[in-house]
Amino acid sequence: MSEKHTSQEEDYFKRVDREKKEALKKKLAEQKAAAKKLEQAQLHHMKCGKCGSDMKPRQFKGVEIDVCVACGAVLLDPGELEELAGEESQGFFSNLGHWVLGD
Ligand SMILES: [Zn+2]
Repeated sequence: MSEKHTSQEEDYFKRVDREKKEALKKKLAEQKAAAKKLEQAQLHHMKCGKCGSDMKPRQFKGVEIDVCVACGAVLLDPGELEELAGEESQGFFSNLGHWVLGD
C-alpha cells in the first residue's frame, strides 16, 4: 500500500518536473526568438531590401520616404502610401495601396 503511494508521488513529481522543464524550454525559445527578431531589425535597419545599401530619408510630396542611395528602391512606412495617394480615390497610388494591403 505504502509502496503504491510512493510511486504515485514519484509520478506526480516527475510530471511537475517535466512541466516545469517544458515551461522553461518554452520561455527560453520565446526569448531566443525575440532576441533574433531584435538582431534582424538592427542588422537590416535602414538597409535596402534589394541591394543592402543604406536607405536615406527624403521628402516626397510632404511625406518622408526612405530611398536607397545605390539602387533607388523606395521604402514606405505604414500609412505613407495612403498619405501620398491623398484624396484621389481612383488613382494609381490608391489602387496600389489597396493591392499592397490586400483589401
Ligand atoms: Zn538598394
